[in-house]
Amino acid sequence: MAPGYARSIKVRGTVQGVGFRPFVYRLADEHKISGWVFNGTRGVEIHAEGTPDALDAFAADIRSRHPPAAEVAQIVVEPAAFEGFGSFSIRDSDASGSPTTRISPDLPLCDDCLREMLDPDDRRYRYAYINCTNCGPRYSIIRSLPYDRPRTTMADWPLCDDCRAEYENPADRRYHAQPIACPRCGPDYFLRENGTGSARGAAAIDRAAALLGEGRILTIKGIGGYHLACDARNDSAVLALRERKYRKEKP
Ligand SMILES: [Zn+2]
Ligand SMILES: [Zn+2]
Repeated sequence: MAPGYARSIKVRGTVQGVGFRPFVYRLADEHKISGWVFNGTRGVEIHAEGTPDALDAFAADIRSRHPPAAEVAQIVVEPAAFEGFGSFSIRDSDASGSPTTRISPDLPLCDDCLREMLDPDDRRYRYAYINCTNCGPRYSIIRSLPYDRPRTTMADWPLCDDCRAEYENPADRRYHAQPIACPRCGPDYFLRENGTGSARGAAAIDRAAALLGEGRILTIKGIGGYHLACDARNDSAVLALRERKYRKEKP
């Protein structure tokens, strides 16, 4: 094999849980780079092999085109030993060492997911836990680092075949989206009234909306934690919630 060029690229900052590895994977494909990327405890670690020009362009694009939710604090590019990788891959995370990488906050629903959630023909139609690499829960579901599904609160929901296919397809928006879920394999939702379950799925949401309309106070448990909810236009409901939380002043 002809001698080749290799570089080690270390990316520090808020770079986990924001679609960084899939982004690097697609970029490597674009620049004909081989090697690997993985989440380490200090950030994203990359080994890149290719022509000097391709390696320069690859590193420059990591700087300039990274996912919008990522906050890159530092990129360190150093020469590395050429090993002759035939392709580029996303490797398992390295969980050794104490974590210093920053975690992304939970991200609001993106336009693509919103469109799917409102599309009656989409398999996630009206599915409340819809998410992708550009949106969804992060900080609130992470139990430990590096950020991977087995170390999140989603570990208890094994992926169905459809979600697995999306998760493993580099061209898919949900490639390596750790909280990926759908109505078939992900969490369901149900309503409990006075200690007993009264409705599931869409019926639970309709019933919850009706209860809010009546001035009731609801506790909504998501993937990452609890929210308290009441009708903000209903003074007696707001007062009751403040009384119960001992917070008279907070908006
Ligand atoms: Zn999304
Ligand atoms: Zn699924």
